[in-house]
Amino acid sequence: MELRELSISLLRERIAAGEIRAAEICRAALDRIELLAELNAFLTVTADSALERAERLDIVARKGDPLPPLAGAILAIKDVILVENVRATAGSRILYNYIPPYTATAVKRLESAGAIVIGKTNCDEFAMGSSNENSAYGAVRNPWNTEHVPGGSSGGSAVAVASGMAMAALGSDTGGSIRQPASFCGVVGLKPTYSRVSRYGLIAYGSSLDHIGPIANSVEDAAQILKVMAGHDPYDSTSSRAPVDDYVALLDGGVRGLRIGVPPEYFGEGLDSEVRKGIEAAVKIFEELGAEIVSVSLPHTKYAVPVYYLIATAEASSNLARFDGVRYGFRAETASSLKEMYSRTRDRGFGAEVKRRIMLGTYALSAGYYDQYYGKAQRVRSLIERDFRDAFNSCDVIATPAAPSTAFRIGEKVDDPLEMYLQDIYTVTLNLTGLPGVVLPCGLSSSGLPIGIQLIGSRFDEARLLRAASSLERVIRGSYQPQALRIPRVNTPATA
Ligand code: GLN
Repeated sequence: MELRELSISLLRERIAAGEIRAAEICRAALDRIELLAELNAFLTVTADSALERAERLDIVARKGDPLPPLAGAILAIKDVILVENVRATAGSRILYNYIPPYTATAVKRLESAGAIVIGKTNCDEFAMGSSNENSAYGAVRNPWNTEHVPGGSSGGSAVAVASGMAMAALGSDTGGSIRQPASFCGVVGLKPTYSRVSRYGLIAYGSSLDHIGPIANSVEDAAQILKVMAGHDPYDSTSSRAPVDDYVALLDGGVRGLRIGVPPEYFGEGLDSEVRKGIEAAVKIFEELGAEIVSVSLPHTKYAVPVYYLIATAEASSNLARFDGVRYGFRAETASSLKEMYSRTRDRGFGAEVKRRIMLGTYALSAGYYDQYYGKAQRVRSLIERDFRDAFNSCDVIATPAAPSTAFRIGEKVDDPLEMYLQDIYTVTLNLTGLPGVVLPCGLSSSGLPIGIQLIGSRFDEARLLRAASSLERVIRGSYQPQALRIPRVNTPATA
């Protein structure tokens, strides 16, 4: 058995029963990270603190004291989310030496629940990208085929889970960065409702679009993690006070009578035919399980990518103003004036894609253009929201592809930013509207790459969304299997 085949709840039971030691699991994960270093998934590995935490849990287990709900769960954290005293680079050269003095609320809650942070994962610089090729620390490779991208921007997190270096990971999702890499790597990725999880300690990209969420091996594990992370946080005034459901307890119950909406706008031109077939087959399974399939219309979908790239770049240009060589990280030392120091720091510290976005965003916000671009984008954003509100009058959950294709080749799209931006067509709408979405694997392409289905729920309806996902997962699991992974399988010492 491998790390990938243990659920968080099963691991906890086995640690409690004395069958596995948390320290052994932790060592197995560390060995795996070392063995698969060529995938470039991790930027920092926190071996010592992870082992120390694991040993402390083993002492609790040995005494027979009750274990916390996520006891021993080995977690990887995307490098845009802060962990006290652990370097956080955001995949950027400008933060190559930044050591944060505090831990993100989401991580803090997971640690308090017994989870063990094993390290920080590689990502596109400041979470800007769809392929993880924009990291200042090199591209991440997809474990299903190492010539292909893992998706982005949370590529390292998705790879860590898919290849058994961690049991679960945190990602951030501003336009699809949890869901699209989950789709490309054949794992589960959940973007909760906007404000469901505190953003305190997340390095901001587009503040009205940013979310933290889990990437996991199963819907159940994702539900476990969400349950612990969700809820109001006094350090993030935008975090919701809505009560947190027991997502795990509510996973059973099936989909009989549930109305699944299928929007034709998400199945149009540009969608790979194998991906389309995979999604259609999954929808058929829902029908066989007793769900009612209805057609819903989301007519403003075609504006989603341009609207997203205006709003995201506008907000990013403002959020990234703080990286000026004074407050954090890298500083160009050779400048002869303050202004030159700012410009040299930013010139050398930021990569090409980040600069492109700062320029786009600054332009969209500049006097005279603000209303024409940013203002207009916000108005179209409301129309996209209205589309979904109308659609949810006639369905409970919406099913769509997660991405137009399976994982593409490294290098295939890097020189064509527009082509890259179009990758986000099915995911950005949920960031513009704040609606929750979960991606789970629903098959393999003929070339052996995972296909992901995206399920969309209404606001704060994660329980129902996850229940639908879990019902589908139960049928599909087994029909696609990780043995296609072109990476060595390593047994954990406890289970070999
Ligand atoms: N690919 C999108 C972008 O580059 C989404 C990124 C994200 O969700 N962080 O903006």
